[in-house]
Amino acid sequence: MATTGGSAIRGSRVGAGPMGEEDRGFKAERVVRNYYCVMGHVQSPAFASSVIEEELPVEIDCPNCGLPAGLDPNNPPQNAKHEPYKTHLAYVKERRTDAEAKELLEDAVAMIRARRTAATAAAAAADKAEKAAAKKTAAKK
Ligand SMILES: [Zn+2]
Repeated sequence: MATTGGSAIRGSRVGAGPMGEEDRGFKAERVVRNYYCVMGHVQSPAFASSVIEEELPVEIDCPNCGLPAGLDPNNPPQNAKHEPYKTHLAYVKERRTDAEAKELLEDAVAMIRARRTAATAAAAAADKAEKAAAKKTAAKK
C-alpha cells in the first residue's frame, strides 16, 4: 500500500463522492425513439423529454447506410428523396435541348474539319516545297 503514493484511493479525484456513488450529475428524462430505414436498420436515438413531440425529427439519416429512416417500422421512407447520381451526359441534357446539341455538334465538327483541311493544305504545301527542293538539288548535280 505504501507504493501507491499520495492519493489514498487510486482513481479517485478531488470532489468525488464516496466510491461507488453515481457522480455524473442527475439523469435528465429522456425519450427514446426508434427509426427504421429501408435496409432494416433500427436506430434508437434518445431525446430530452423537454423537447416537444412536434419538434422531434420525423426522419433521420441512417448512420449505417445513409438512407432516410422513419418512425413506422412497416413503412420505412423510400429513397425517393435522394436523387440518383447523374451522369455527365444527363446534366448536359438537362441544360441543352436536342436542337442545341445538334447545333453545337455541327459547330464542333465544322471547326475540326476546317482545322483538318488547313492541316492537309499545309502538309501538301510542305510536301510540294520539299519535292521542289529535291528537284532543285537533283538538277544541280
Ligand atoms: Zn440503414
